[in-house]
Amino acid sequence: METEFTLYNTLTRRKERFEPLTEGRVGMYVCGPTVYGDPHLGHARPAVTFDLLFRYLRSLGYKVRYVRNITDVGHLEHDADEGEDKIAKKARLEELEPMEVAHHYTERYHRAMDELNVITPSIEPCASGHIIEQITFVQRILDAGFAYISNGSVYFDVEKYNEKYRYGRLSGRNLDEIVLGTRELDGQSDKRHPYDFALWKKASPEHIMRWPSPWSDGFPGWHMECSAMSTKYLGDRFDIHGGGMDLMFPHHECEIAQSTAALGHDSARYWVHNNMITINGQKMGKSLGNFITLEELFTGSHRLLTQAYSPMTIRFFVLQAHYRSTLDFSNEALQAAEKGLDRLMKGYETLAKIQPAAASTLHPEELETRCAEAMADDLNSPMVISALFDWVRLINQAADGKEQLTADDIERLKAVFRRYAFDILGLKEEKSAAAGGRDRITPLVEMLLDERLKARAAKDWAASDRIRDGLQAAGIRVKDRKDGTDWELE
Ligand code: ZN
Repeated sequence: METEFTLYNTLTRRKERFEPLTEGRVGMYVCGPTVYGDPHLGHARPAVTFDLLFRYLRSLGYKVRYVRNITDVGHLEHDADEGEDKIAKKARLEELEPMEVAHHYTERYHRAMDELNVITPSIEPCASGHIIEQITFVQRILDAGFAYISNGSVYFDVEKYNEKYRYGRLSGRNLDEIVLGTRELDGQSDKRHPYDFALWKKASPEHIMRWPSPWSDGFPGWHMECSAMSTKYLGDRFDIHGGGMDLMFPHHECEIAQSTAALGHDSARYWVHNNMITINGQKMGKSLGNFITLEELFTGSHRLLTQAYSPMTIRFFVLQAHYRSTLDFSNEALQAAEKGLDRLMKGYETLAKIQPAAASTLHPEELETRCAEAMADDLNSPMVISALFDWVRLINQAADGKEQLTADDIERLKAVFRRYAFDILGLKEEKSAAAGGRDRITPLVEMLLDERLKARAAKDWAASDRIRDGLQAAGIRVKDRKDGTDWELE
């Protein structure tokens, strides 16, 4: 592997040269969605970020085992140890089997990921399918002396752990700060300390999702599924653990503590976190009324949206920011992304229209180097995009005859675009009017133009104008020629 790839490691807080534990192979675990609601804008960023990393590692020649879990034991959003299981609650209210709810939203998540051109991970394990592994993992922590049983539940003993290892390494917090940040809720009295967290929870009588265990009929704590499933499929040591920055504390901090307590060492070598999406500068949240599902984005059916945005526009929008930078959503930013994507795609198409010259005035290897260096520098997708944009300008000049390219160099440029824009950034041509694809609407437009021709033959000018104006309003410009009628998308 010729490129020296550096990746920012949240654990060490610096960019490190990427070296896999096993030559040529990479094990990567990413925290996936909780499936008790529609996939939303917040899901798009981690999905696209780790898809970019997956695609890039594969392009470097690594054999990658990418594991992304499905949290279908719903419980836990913020009050990770308390509260009714979210899937169970929805199931109870709608009289559904909990697995019906989980299945429904898992399917919707998969469809949205397909639309975003996110490649399916190698393994997608569900928490509910790995209860035995989780019970075994809890037992290992108990055996190692870093957990205690209290009233049928099992809690992680943070203080005991902190005496031997340091709790809070990833998030940089110490125990005093964590105590201050812990909301003391009713029913937490089973715990010895407020910062202790549940490995296994005894189920209350009305709790539907429950499994037998040595301690009680209950369910695993949220953090447990990732420790159990990552080590099951990737081994006790693996290369990359990823997720959104919002998962760093408590989820990933607890995962590190669990794995270290059970195994005696860290399981993941590089911790990678994507930054969050804000909406018009605000955090996204149901209570703020700015919670936008991916379907609403694709159809434009949310009151904050002035139009629909195609999945590739969303993907391009995410990739235009570095994954560790904040990304603010606004209609203006998405419209700019839509235009930018269109310009990039047209640039690639223009390559086919250039008349090859005997000698080149441009050097395509410069583009290749810029793209390779940007990706190798902690996945700098915005720099890749900016290099491609610079070359779209040069390509347009070559098409106008102001620059020259040989046939070989044209092919070389096509290959660079395919590698970086399509294979690694994962962009693709969209068959929609917005992305410039005519195919889907052609039969409809031809039919209307036929009707217009009939109206004109009958000298029904009003009907003819109405059809022309209607098409115009839909962004289709009609041009009458001597030998018939032509049309184009605006
Ligand atoms: Zn996780």
